[in-house]
This record gives sequence, structure tokens and C-alpha cells, in this order.
Amino acid sequence: MTEKIGVIGGGIAGVGAAWSLHRAGYEVEVFEKGPALGGNAKTFRWTTEDGHADSPLLVVAWPQMYYHNYELLLRELGVGITTLPISYFVQTPDGHFCQDGQSVVERRFARQFRRWKRLVAFVTRLNDFFLSKKTHESLYHFSYFNPLNLIPLYWLARLFGISKAFWDTIFVPIHCASFITTSMKGVPAVILPLLESIVPLEEPTEMGTWVGAPRQVFDRMTESFPDHVYTDHEITKVEKKGGRYTITDKHGRSYEVDKVIFACDATSTLNALQSPTWLQRTLLGNTRYVDDIDPTFASFVIHSDTTVFPERHRERILSGFNTYSEIDETGALECTFVISSQNPSTKDAGVPMLVTFNSRKAIDKVQKRVDLPHSVHAVGIRNLIIMSMSRYLQGKNGLYYCSTFTTPEGAHDLSFMSGLVAAQAIGAPYPFSRDNHDAVADFRLMQKMMLKSSDRSD
Ligand SMILES: Cc1cc2nc3c(=O)[nH]c(=O)nc-3n(C[C@H](O)[C@H](O)[C@H](O)COP(=O)(O)OP(=O)(O)OC[C@H]3O[C@@H](n4cnc5c(N)ncnc54)[C@H](O)[C@@H]3O)c2cc1C
Repeated sequence: MTEKIGVIGGGIAGVGAAWSLHRAGYEVEVFEKGPALGGNAKTFRWTTEDGHADSPLLVVAWPQMYYHNYELLLRELGVGITTLPISYFVQTPDGHFCQDGQSVVERRFARQFRRWKRLVAFVTRLNDFFLSKKTHESLYHFSYFNPLNLIPLYWLARLFGISKAFWDTIFVPIHCASFITTSMKGVPAVILPLLESIVPLEEPTEMGTWVGAPRQVFDRMTESFPDHVYTDHEITKVEKKGGRYTITDKHGRSYEVDKVIFACDATSTLNALQSPTWLQRTLLGNTRYVDDIDPTFASFVIHSDTTVFPERHRERILSGFNTYSEIDETGALECTFVISSQNPSTKDAGVPMLVTFNSRKAIDKVQKRVDLPHSVHAVGIRNLIIMSMSRYLQGKNGLYYCSTFTTPEGAHDLSFMSGLVAAQAIGAPYPFSRDNHDAVADFRLMQKMMLKSSDRSD
């Protein structure tokens, strides 16, 4: 008899796992708390003068040099990929910084930028030493022996003579959009070369994005099992009864499955387990999300009010920048994603599409106010330890785990891969051709992070 797998969470990790299992002949049931699949890869429908237009909202782009498997998925699904220039504009009380080498702020920090480059070179050399078998550029390389896993980037930067002012004025306003927090002093130094290759502080870069909006990815992944996707189903209970699991949502609707993949946040996972073991309580209960540590960006406003930008630079920001951060006189940081600036699916819609976190001014033309889901994994040593220990939970009693808390950072390719690895641990083979060596190598590295060697197969 075909095994039936229940997947809790309809983000890219859960839908990725279900898609892979379904292709391998398993029956799947996907349960999603919200009204649509996608998780953080939300599609928002804007009201425009002519009707409406869809756009990505939070997950907007990806570094193509690292997202080997996610791009294979999009090609397999026939979803168009395009590129997007990525640039940041930071407004401070003393002037602005916009990665063009011209501003007063950038000239003021010229010496600090040189020190930053020396720091990046130092961390790169040390990382390369601990990753002597590195075969390709990857998000998935990880050495347990590298001391930089334990040393905060902030401390190391200070040791290299980098000032607190540089950290607060340049590093935090630019990377608050990557980490979705203003509290970054716990970010381990080991990830600096990766950060700098994805979002170099001094110059604009380019990333991949969908030709349309992310909804089409989720629609196509589930098009051969649409009747097995249950949205508006918040799962509150997972219990073993007579060798099978009963999954129950908050309205009391129950479903029976043979195995369960948790693809939601660690807190929801722990709450749903009826009699968690000590290890489940310790690992799931101690995982930290950014809203646990710093509530600054815990809600955001979706709007079209361009007065959030200074009048002098307004037109320029609206047409040429993806992210605008503003530090006010008190040091508080407001951050706005300029969704409509360059994305091909949105820039011709004729409406400014803006998403502001920690709004400090009154905002007009609001389309929606939203609380950020409690699912954005905080980058730090504690979560790295929990991630590496979670292999001891995988597969125990037919329960599997994927999504951001099983990966070293929060990123779409990492979550997708965590879903594929959970599916593979149940029995679904790697779903893509093995001709793409970098993609296969990433899958193997993710397997190493998530599974004990005895649970891995090729
Ligand atoms: C503001 C923001 C911007 C980001 N930008 C990018 C970007 O540009 N590029 C990039 O690569 N990554 C980005 N990320 C990272 C992004 O979170 C990941 O890439 C990825 O989307 C996470 O997928 P996931 O499936 O692991 O988790 P989620 O997307 O969080 O999915 C988990 C799902 O589980 C559901 N769920 C929770 N509890 C339950 C329950 N009890 N029952 C049923 N369902 C439940 C949730 O509703 C959610 O849909 C961004 C994240 C945020 C927050």
C-alpha cells in the first residue's frame, strides 16, 4: 500500500517536500495555516487605477550563483527567470549613502571601507583553510571546526578597527533587509564572505527573480494534487494512534497519515506534538526567531505613499533602488522595500508598491498592515548548534523536519533543499538530473547537515 505523508506548512520547504514525494509515487496531504501556499514567498494583489496587479512581497530575489536547485525547479516547472539590479539607499541625519562612491557619507567612511575589505579577505582566507575540499561556490559549505562559527562578526570588525558608527550607518541599514532585524551583533563572522558576495556593501549587484510572481511556482508544484492541499488549516495536534498519525487542525478537522513532515516553525511544531521527548523539547523549544530577539520589524505596512522618501531623492529612489533605509535622529531605523522599482512584473503597473518595516512616519495610501510571521530564523550560534543537532530527530517514529530551523540561514534555496532532503529521507530520490554537478553537490552537503550518515542515501 502507498504510504501517505502529511506535510504541515505550505512554504517552499513543505511544498518542495510534497512535490518531490508525489513525483516518487507517495500520497501527500499538505496543510497550510494561511489562505494561500507560499509562506514568506507571498504574492500580493495591489489595487491599481486599472484594476489590480500581482507582485512578490517579501521574498523578492535570489543570488543566482548559489541557487542551483531552486533554478532547476523553476526550469522544470516552466517558470520564467529574469535578473534584477539590486541597490540600496541609506538616508542618515548627516546625508545619504547609495553605493556610488560619491556621497559625503561614503567619503567620510573611506578608511573604514578599506578596513572592511581587509576583514573580508581575512575571513575568506580562514574559511578556505577550514574548507580545503571546497569544490564549488555554495551556501552549503560548513566546517564544524571553524572558530569563526563562534566569533560574532561585530567583535571581529571592531578588532579590525571598524567603528561602531560604520556598523550602525552602513552595515546595519543595508543588511537589515537580509536579516529582517536591526539586531545583528550575534551574526557569526563565518558568513561574511557569503554576505559580501551576495550584497557587497560598496557597489550595486544583480540577482535572479521570477518573470511573474511567486504564486505560479506553488500552483505548478501542486497542480497534480490540488485536492490534497488544505489551506486555512492551522494544525494544532499531531498524535500517534495505532501505528498511524492523526493530524488535527484548530477547528477539529482530522486526517490520518503514515508519516509526518513538519515544514512550519519550531514553535508550531513543538505545540502540535502531544508528548514531546526531551530532545524535541530542547531543540524545538530553544530555536530563536528574529521576533523573539528583536520586535523592531515584527510588522510592516504595504502601501503606495512615496512621502516615506525624502523629497530631494524621491524620483531617483522610486526608479532605481530596491531598498531604502532611514536612520532618524534617535538612531531608529525604518526600512522600505521598493517592490515596484525594477521588478519586470511590477514596474509598469503604474502604482508605487512599497513595503515599510518599523514605519516612523504617518503612512497614507495603505493597502494592508501585516504582522511578520514568526518564522524568520535568527542567524546566530545558538541556532547553528540546534540545526546541527536536529539530525538526531529526523525520522524518529516517522516524524521529519524541514524549513528554516533545519538550515544554517533563512534563504529560499536552503528551505527548498531542506524539503527535498526530508522527502529523500522518507524514500523520494533526488528529483533532478544528476548532470548539474553543483546542484547535486549542494544536495549532498544539505544531506550532511540534516541527516546522520546512516540515514543518507544517494
Ligand atoms: C521579509 C523577508 C524577506 C525575505 N527575502 C528573501 C529573499 O529575497 N530571498 C530569499 O532567498 N529568501 C528570502 N527570505 C527568506 C525566506 O523566509 C525563505 O527563503 C523561505 O521562503 C522560507 O521558507 P520555509 O518554507 O522554510 O518557511 P515559511 O515560508 O515560513 O513557510 C512555513 C509555512 O508554515 C505555515 N505554518 C506555520 N504554522 C503552521 C501550522 N500550525 N499549521 C499549518 N501551517 C503552518 C506558515 O503559515 C507558512 O506558510 C525572506 C524572508 C523574509 C521574512
